[in-house]
Amino acid sequence: MRPARSAGRGDIGQNGRDERRHSLSGQQLMQPRDVRLEPELARRLASRAAALAPLGSLAADSVALTAEQSAALERLADRLANTYPYGDERYIGQMLKPPHPLAWAAYATTMLLNPNNHALDGGPATAEMEQEAVAAIAAMFGYDEHIGHLTSSGTIANLEALWVARELRPDAAIVFGENAHYTHARMCQLIGVPADPVAQDEHGRIDLDALGRRLQAGGVGTVVATLGTTSLGAIDRIEQIVELCSRHGARLHVDAAYGGFFTLLADGATPGVEPAPFAALRRADSIVVDPHKHGLQPYGCGCVLFADPSVARLYAHDSPYTYFTSRERHLGEISLECSRAGAAAAALWTTLEALPLTREGLGSHLAASRAAAQGLTAALAGAEVAIVVAPELDIICPFPRLARASAISERCERAFDSLAQAGWHAAKIRLQTSWLRRTHPEIEHDADELTTLRLVLMKPAHADIVEELASVLREHLARG
Ligand SMILES: *Cc1c(COP(=O)(O)O)cnc(C)c1O
Repeated sequence: MRPARSAGRGDIGQNGRDERRHSLSGQQLMQPRDVRLEPELARRLASRAAALAPLGSLAADSVALTAEQSAALERLADRLANTYPYGDERYIGQMLKPPHPLAWAAYATTMLLNPNNHALDGGPATAEMEQEAVAAIAAMFGYDEHIGHLTSSGTIANLEALWVARELRPDAAIVFGENAHYTHARMCQLIGVPADPVAQDEHGRIDLDALGRRLQAGGVGTVVATLGTTSLGAIDRIEQIVELCSRHGARLHVDAAYGGFFTLLADGATPGVEPAPFAALRRADSIVVDPHKHGLQPYGCGCVLFADPSVARLYAHDSPYTYFTSRERHLGEISLECSRAGAAAAALWTTLEALPLTREGLGSHLAASRAAAQGLTAALAGAEVAIVVAPELDIICPFPRLARASAISERCERAFDSLAQAGWHAAKIRLQTSWLRRTHPEIEHDADELTTLRLVLMKPAHADIVEELASVLREHLARG
């Protein structure tokens, strides 16, 4: 299916403003507010809204909307048409895709009740589903025992892990790689913990020598490693980091928000991922994974896990108006957030019922993404196009083999724009030229930073269009 395409350059944004960016050659470039769903999809979206509204309450067989209410829904569909085609295989930009239809149906069904997974009386069924789904994820990572819960995002899940890190090692630093997600520095600031970034190596992984030196210097409470960086999909060497941590008495938190579900492919089979870092996850003190990234869930679904169930004591708090229904543990008693959508747990639970955490289940989606990245790498290899680092997951950053850093940036900026005009939506990444020269020494350092394309191949359909994508990229990267 080729449903969604953004509108061409001729379409002026709905608001009629004309402040669009101009390219180096003076052409008008596409801005986010200029993209449009293809008319067929926009129509389908509007009719879906009209079809759903009568189902929106369990209080009656059918809900009748007033004329004003229907008009408001029509305006919604109209506004939503200003959207990138996230479900289309030609959307290769950010980590975005629609949830699985089953997750959507489960979420919508549960929303008819709108349970809250804070106290057990807020959602007894969905609290149990959350515990089961979280236990399945913990088992996937090889945890024998665990405590954990869903969160509204990966950021909040990491915040909880860092907060536990601080509570357990109050006066010690938290150390993460400069390849880590930007929110770690912010969250350390928020909780008032000294944060020390250490260098990344030439593959975009945390530099083990730098980390070893930092640990040797002392005062480190917890190390944050990233299993699948957001920028390049690089995999920190968890199996070596865990050794370094235990040698120096530091805890280990693994941020697997993006890469965690690739564990399903870490079995030595093809398509696969390097098994050792994933096998070492069981030795981490805490792990974060985002079901709303590679778990086919709608936004609002992160997950944090701790290997030691006794960290629950750190969350201890009293609330005289909650927790009165049962002595069983309420999820609110082990999370920093209060209200959370029970629907998010129901959607994840239902998805895992149909697509269990096996290579054949949810793993089949990841396998297609991984195969797409490997296939595209092979298809692009040649004299014209280079890749920043060989992809370890499903993110790939290609750039044209030009002599100067500035020329590479200019060409990639142009390709980003011309791809968008042609309905292909990529992303971009800025890199330090000195860092990229470690693996691509032929690049002339005439600018400190350079820009390349960044492609996230997280939809199974990407595996089917590898050859087409390679030739489109080659063509756009060759345009001077
Ligand atoms: C996406 C991501 C986060 C942040 O998660 P959100 O769900 O966007 O808040 C943190 N770490 C990594 C490695 C990520 O890829």
